[in-house]
Amino acid sequence: MGEKVTIFDTTLRDGEQSPGASMNVEEKTRVARQLARLGVDVIEAGFAFSSPGDFESVRRISHEIDGPIVCSLARAREEDVNAAWEALRGSPRPRIHTFISTSEIHLKYQFRLTRDEALKRAVEMVRLARSYVDDVEFSAMDASRTELEYLYEVIEAAVDAGAATVNIPDTVGYALPHQFGELIKGIKTNVKNIGRAVISVHCHNDLGLAVANSLSAVINGARQVECTINGIGERAGNASLEEIVMILRTRKDSLGLDTAIVTEQIYPASRLVSTITGMMVQPNKAIVGDNAFAHESGIHQDGLLKEKTTYEIMRPESVGISRSKLVLGKHSGRHAFRARLEDMGYTLGTDDLDRAFERFKLLADRKKEVFDEDLEAIVQDEVLRLEVPDRFKLLALRVSSGTDVQPSAAVEMEVDGKGVKEDGSGDGPVDAAYKTIARITGTKSQLLRYSVNAITGGTDAQGEVTVRLQEDDHIVLGQGAHPDIIVASARAYINALNRLEYKKKEKKERVV
Ligand code: MN
Repeated sequence: MGEKVTIFDTTLRDGEQSPGASMNVEEKTRVARQLARLGVDVIEAGFAFSSPGDFESVRRISHEIDGPIVCSLARAREEDVNAAWEALRGSPRPRIHTFISTSEIHLKYQFRLTRDEALKRAVEMVRLARSYVDDVEFSAMDASRTELEYLYEVIEAAVDAGAATVNIPDTVGYALPHQFGELIKGIKTNVKNIGRAVISVHCHNDLGLAVANSLSAVINGARQVECTINGIGERAGNASLEEIVMILRTRKDSLGLDTAIVTEQIYPASRLVSTITGMMVQPNKAIVGDNAFAHESGIHQDGLLKEKTTYEIMRPESVGISRSKLVLGKHSGRHAFRARLEDMGYTLGTDDLDRAFERFKLLADRKKEVFDEDLEAIVQDEVLRLEVPDRFKLLALRVSSGTDVQPSAAVEMEVDGKGVKEDGSGDGPVDAAYKTIARITGTKSQLLRYSVNAITGGTDAQGEVTVRLQEDDHIVLGQGAHPDIIVASARAYINALNRLEYKKKEKKERVV
């Protein structure tokens, strides 16, 4: 193995700042478990001071997840650092990550601080964090637009105050690879005590350069990269973990660097994050896109059949994509079913496994071939959504629609344990079902988005419906899967309504 680069995953903090990608505590914990399997070195679990949900995520993940260092973000303010410590307290490998802006633009217009004041506050907050934990990271926000001499000065002071990692963010995604590399080299040569700290980078993708900038930094001496699964994050996102990792792995010959990532867990992690956040991966995305290993040209296919390395620089198996997508059929047993789920990163308890297996059998009766995507949909629909307590349950649904009838729906639901029945009509069967469900539940939410997706090819495919609802400042995602798309639609809607209830409650029960 070459010299090691630390992988700092911020899917649960910066990634969660993607518009519409918010996750609840259970979902974050599930992602964290997969990140641990993936072998990331550090998990940034949230920003403890920012909300009760973030506080609880940091607390739970830092106490429950084995292996990685777990970190909370904190502005360079006492209340933030204290909240980070409260959430991390008693966990095995805590890190506090505190930050302050150093660029003239930010200091002057946003924070109204002088350089001296910002430097003083950085030092005080690193010291405060160090009084709680040994592992402190300091970030100079907007570093790539900071005047160099001042940046060196701040970094030196932060290292003197006890920061073991200093992070150089390209907060606004403005840097160019050669300049960003120079910046890192400059820090290595000009900051006297830099040998006592690890240089980290945190790049944004506004110009599509997040990965290139991170790589250039690493070539020039950075040894921690902050990144996210599928590259999600604020605006155009962060550097994508899978790309950074596979660049270092595939081109170790030239770069001489590597990570501790278990690359076979990359694809399961990617799928899990896109399923939970509803942010689909573009088909031509490097490493994890649907087409990343699909060869269409006849000349390429001919070469591949003769010798894989003619056109393949990585094996799909090495990132956890199985070459044969077909997995199970109606004769597959419970054992094979469980083994396949485990390969995909889902470990279920006996009851959950029973329910999911039951659903699988029903599906396998309707559909000859059951693919990984189908299994994922089943687990998501049957098991994981139950982590949010259900105030509303769908008991039965009948719709009628067609070319010469007024679309109508008859819905039977359970609301707070009581059965309710209603009939309604609409512009189409989904509209009729949704209007009826809205009447039964009395929801004030608005439907922002409705999308239906055939999970696999063929008319017998399961439909996967994703909806986004808004009520006041709460936005939630709901998902449902079923071979009948109207049923899938109703399930997705009700799932979102339950999440909305949960979110409203989560907000009320303030922990900090
Ligand atoms: Mn960021």
